[in-house]
Amino acid sequence: MKTIGLIGGMSWESTVTYYQAINLGVKERLGGLHSAKLMMISLDFAQIEAMQKKGDWLAATDALIQAARRLEISGADGFIICTNTMHKVADKIAAQVSIPLIHIADATGEVLKRKRIRKVGLLGTAFTMEQDFYKGRLAQHGLEVVIPNEQQRRVVHDVIYQELCQGEVRSESKQAYLEIVDDLVSEGAEAIILGCTEIGLLIQQADTVVRLVDTTQIHAQAAVEFMLSSRA
Ligand code: GLU
Repeated sequence: MKTIGLIGGMSWESTVTYYQAINLGVKERLGGLHSAKLMMISLDFAQIEAMQKKGDWLAATDALIQAARRLEISGADGFIICTNTMHKVADKIAAQVSIPLIHIADATGEVLKRKRIRKVGLLGTAFTMEQDFYKGRLAQHGLEVVIPNEQQRRVVHDVIYQELCQGEVRSESKQAYLEIVDDLVSEGAEAIILGCTEIGLLIQQADTVVRLVDTTQIHAQAAVEFMLSSRA
């Protein structure tokens, strides 16, 4: 088994999910007492969020490059960034280390391609929904992406930072998200990407007939595949 490095803490609420999902994935594949060989650098999200808000992506990139280097020096064979939003600077981080990065949007795009889905709704932070780093990457996998309207995007974004990243799960927010999901379906979305690693804490497949694609689970599974494959 290869060792995976995690850059976590963004927020730690979803890093918990990653830790559990990667261990469950390894257990499912290898059985018995097997568990994941992993190491993690967990950042202080208050600092990262302040940089995002200021638009100081250079400082945020630098913090993540330092984390990736520490993982590499400590012996990780590959690494993941446990958030969709910070994939805005994923290529810059990956270029500074020699171990491979497993990209969350590529892992998600591959799964959707296998399911023959062409048009998807995307929920995430405003950065993820509005900027090209994520939608453009999905487009490379042949996907057409629809996003909520401006007012709905604000709701989705605020719930992530003000509630989910602080461990709060509110039923009125769940309701609001499910209504937005329905609107995206009426615009032709065949599935909805939960493109923020905390959204799975708020809405799950049991809440709707619409197919939900949880990037946290997909990313964790992609990490497990990497760990158990012979891929260098
Ligand atoms: N975890 C979130 C995401 O997947 C949001 C937090 C962040 O800005 O990194 O985008």
